Amino acid sequence: MERPLTKHISFRRPSLALEEYERTGGYAAVRKALKQLTPEDIQQQVLASTLKGRGGAGFSTGTKWGLIPMGADAPHPKYLIANADEMEPGTFKDRLLLEGNPHQLIEGMILSAYAIQADIAYIFLRWAYRKAAVLLQQSIEEAYGAGYLGKHILGGSWSLEMHLHTGVGRYMCGEETALLNALEGKRATPRAKPPFPQLSGLFGKPTIVNNVETLCCIPHIVNNGADWFKSLSRCAEGGTKLYGVSGKVNHPGCWELPMGTTIRELLHHAGGMKNGHRLKGLLPGGASTDFLTEQHLDTPLDYTSVAAAGSRLGTGTIIVLDDATCPVGFVHNLQHFFAQESCGWCTPCREGLPWVEKTLLSIERGEATPEDIELLRMHTHMLGPGHTFCALAPGAMEPLQSALHYFMDDFERHLTEKKCPYANHLHR
Ligand code: NAD
Repeated sequence: MERPLTKHISFRRPSLALEEYERTGGYAAVRKALKQLTPEDIQQQVLASTLKGRGGAGFSTGTKWGLIPMGADAPHPKYLIANADEMEPGTFKDRLLLEGNPHQLIEGMILSAYAIQADIAYIFLRWAYRKAAVLLQQSIEEAYGAGYLGKHILGGSWSLEMHLHTGVGRYMCGEETALLNALEGKRATPRAKPPFPQLSGLFGKPTIVNNVETLCCIPHIVNNGADWFKSLSRCAEGGTKLYGVSGKVNHPGCWELPMGTTIRELLHHAGGMKNGHRLKGLLPGGASTDFLTEQHLDTPLDYTSVAAAGSRLGTGTIIVLDDATCPVGFVHNLQHFFAQESCGWCTPCREGLPWVEKTLLSIERGEATPEDIELLRMHTHMLGPGHTFCALAPGAMEPLQSALHYFMDDFERHLTEKKCPYANHLHR
């Protein structure tokens, strides 16, 4: 099984410095691209590879790049931004790539920037990823020193500057338009889309924002071709995927596996459930996805199949809910996070999420009435898609609406027993 993104990453070895990265074939794709390929060639290859954005939404990377203005009349500067603000609860896949092989990301960014003819690239990094910050800064300097960044890259006519920017630890900064505002030094609130950043992004100029894992795929596509990339996958969505598992499993962690690996297989990689625990449910891709249950264990973890099962692949990092943990407390814990991270820009999100959090707490404490459950249901519609400015509140409603569907008995037991029936309450 091929693991192109992680094959040189090991906990027993420190992160790859430039020399080692080059010894493993690093920067060969940049050399190849700048000598033999036009920007349009790379755009075509990426489109043909069927690569879908790994940040969570799964939008076609080739399609996104295809929307950026090209040619002599295109406005400049154009920007490429690596979204490394990984803050989705339960998600730690980009961290592995950032800390284990920072040059892979930098090479992917150089290639992507060349493909869209960008002039300036930023890495927008989660504040808490301090080890990654040090490694990325060192690696950017090494890449400048070796002529992969800066003026006239590898002696050619194209130039690119790259900067590392660390965020301030707010979930909202990962939303691409809030990220643009944050980079411009403004309050990190989302912007209306359209216009999409491809046309009007950073400082109003054409901008592509891609996730770290997405960008790390690019050197491998340029080196080996679109057909090879597609052959890594078990489904129509090309490539491998960094999957993760957290919760009461024997070996929580992160693995690079073929796209379309099933939930059952992934849980097997995680060593199965811990002794004495049974799987009650799982969130397939971070906290802002709908619960799936035992009946979905054979679902392939790709964007289309998980959607057909009633959830979203999201970041592909599973959070397991076990049978000893209260689902109401579990969801309350998530809503506490989302309420705290709302940027306050639009009313439904700012006012609605604290209500949801409070209502769940009263249910968890056994103080609620059946009307409170109806109130929660109403909120899942009022804060759902189309009613808020960005995806934060609709994402927050996904685990809630599916918990109300799959774990209604548990909600009702809290009302009838007037207390939480579980030992693991999880509420504050
Ligand atoms: P989205 O579907 O609105 O957009 C995804 C990407 O596709 C964006 O870059 C957007 O510009 C582009 N796009 C979408 N429609 C387009 C169109 N018609 N024309 C041109 N470009 C278009 O999703 P989003 O709000 O950017 O992201 C939500 C996702 O983020 C969720 O799926 C969630 O799982 C994920 N997420 C991830 C993290 C993390 O830490 N990785 C954190 C929070 C949320």
